[in-house]
Amino acid sequence: MPTSTTPEKREFQAEVSQVLDIVINSLYTDKEIFVRELVSNASDALEKFRHMQLTENEVHQPDLPLEIQISIDEEAKTITITDHGLGMTREELHENLGTIAHSGSKAFVKALEESKQKESSLIGQFGVGFYSAFMVADEVTVETRSWKSDGESLVWKSDGKTGYEIEEAEGDVDRGSKIVLKLREDAEEFVGEGRVKQILENYSSFVSFPILIGEDRVNTIEAIWRKKKNEVTDEEYNEFYKFSSKAFDDPRYRMHFSSEMPIEINALLFVPTENTELWGMGQMEPGVSLYCKNVLIDDKPEGLLPEWLRFLRGVIDSADIPLNISRESMQDSTLVRKLNRVVTKRFLKFLDGEAKGDAETYKEFYAKFGRFLKEGVVVDYDHRENLCKLLRFESSMTEKGEQTSFEDYLTRAKDGQEEIYYLAGSDRASIEAGPYLEALKSRGLEVIFFFDTIDEYLLQHLREFDGKQLVSAASSGLELDDEEVEQEGDPLSEESTEALCEFLKEEFGDRVEKVEAGKRLVSSPIAALVPDQGMTAQMRQMMQSMNPDGDLPPMQVELEINSRHPLIHQLSEIRDSNPDLAKLVAGQLFDNALLSAGMLDDRTDLIERGFRLMEEAMKK
Ligand code: ADP
Repeated sequence: MPTSTTPEKREFQAEVSQVLDIVINSLYTDKEIFVRELVSNASDALEKFRHMQLTENEVHQPDLPLEIQISIDEEAKTITITDHGLGMTREELHENLGTIAHSGSKAFVKALEESKQKESSLIGQFGVGFYSAFMVADEVTVETRSWKSDGESLVWKSDGKTGYEIEEAEGDVDRGSKIVLKLREDAEEFVGEGRVKQILENYSSFVSFPILIGEDRVNTIEAIWRKKKNEVTDEEYNEFYKFSSKAFDDPRYRMHFSSEMPIEINALLFVPTENTELWGMGQMEPGVSLYCKNVLIDDKPEGLLPEWLRFLRGVIDSADIPLNISRESMQDSTLVRKLNRVVTKRFLKFLDGEAKGDAETYKEFYAKFGRFLKEGVVVDYDHRENLCKLLRFESSMTEKGEQTSFEDYLTRAKDGQEEIYYLAGSDRASIEAGPYLEALKSRGLEVIFFFDTIDEYLLQHLREFDGKQLVSAASSGLELDDEEVEQEGDPLSEESTEALCEFLKEEFGDRVEKVEAGKRLVSSPIAALVPDQGMTAQMRQMMQSMNPDGDLPPMQVELEINSRHPLIHQLSEIRDSNPDLAKLVAGQLFDNALLSAGMLDDRTDLIERGFRLMEEAMKK
């Protein structure tokens, strides 16, 4: 390409070099995906231009055909992909083809490491698709002219190794971009129309602009989401998902529906197999595009769906949306709000059906995406009830690793049981080892276990299900029927119990609000309970993690002792005869109770006292 000025040379940003190094040296499979990536970029640029035309008065060369032209020069061994889309300015060239936004490259590298076969197709997912050109080319030239009236005719050129240069083109360039790939020797298989056509076959019909190879039109355009379900095959759905979301996985779920009322909608939504947020990619961007009668309005509209549904991919098409609606007015639009409500409701209902129909698949989905649902419960009052139905957790009646729902819990609830019991902790084992479960277990009551880190937030917003209050089995307000429980051993006399409680209260001073004999304990001698308005162990930990240098919030517990327990009997007996030992034992009991409750802030005393108790035990 002859040029008129001295080229502006730049090195790639470090992240780009890293990606390029991988692309050039490690990706050997599926090289053909470069076609998909470049055609998809061309299509994006055309979509954006078509939309721009609706709102901007002045665009450069408004009458150029909106199509994608592919030409192959067998002699020169080049493939050229041309579009009359938006084009790029000089700044945009630097920004788009010299740097990588967000954490794209890091996540890409990590994902590649985790994927077994170094899948080339991962590349599109991370906003680095353009660089796939270097899998097959040792020189890439981008000739471009922006839609802006003051745009320049520019040529960007790179070998993918040392950096890139930009210079002015000699003569005028048409609006849009022309990407020329000079094929590497080991990629010459792509110098053939047949081969390229074959690559395009899978997804070209999802591109909403004509694709031409020479004179031949390759694709018929069809908006798959406006077709009837029985007219689309699984393969077509999957291909569409991969193409439109630049995804590398197959969708885990898909929901395709249309409705007339209360608003005209054609929607095709996908749940991916993988949750990239779990790979440390940062928060996903919304992935459901908004269309009006096949024309793209916005590919990442904020506010079209609730933020906690940001993992969804796909398309919502509504004929009722005005074509020239702006990004700003979209969120305020009553129509968009209506779409949001209708689609969200439908999707939650869909998930509920899937969960009931195929629990295994739902379990896999929930393991990867359950957090989004919990986020929804916390932030979205409107959909909370339906979201709660979708939550799953282990419980005292499930095996380890198996899950149940609130609805199932209630089917097992006892007659007249008005509450849903739960325990929060760091894991199943520590909940089971604690003193709180036994009271409910011995009464045949099921206890839900919460041990995901965000469950504490969840519990602050999830107060009831189906009219039944959620009650912590570690709270002092727990009221239990005690008729059905068979307890072993006799309780201490009322007098001795009172005296012992008094003694303990004096020992622990301000650290406990009260000490009482209770009915909940079966095999444990003592438990620390959280008063009704008190702060749970998880809340304290949360507060501390938010302010690591600050003091831990003061602890508020009530103690419950089990007056049937031999240890309590013995303690009551030695209180007068051996007050020193009684104090030691009392202190240890208290620390043990706090430890079980996750509230023992300092273990030094516990250990020290443990040694002294051993000494005492071995005396004589
Ligand atoms: P992504 O498309 O996922 O953002 P790419 O690496 O494929 O990542 O492309 C980077 C950017 O380069 C695009 O976001 C776009 O702004 C710009 N770009 C690529 N191809 C074209 C094109 N044909 N016309 C206009 N801009 C383009």
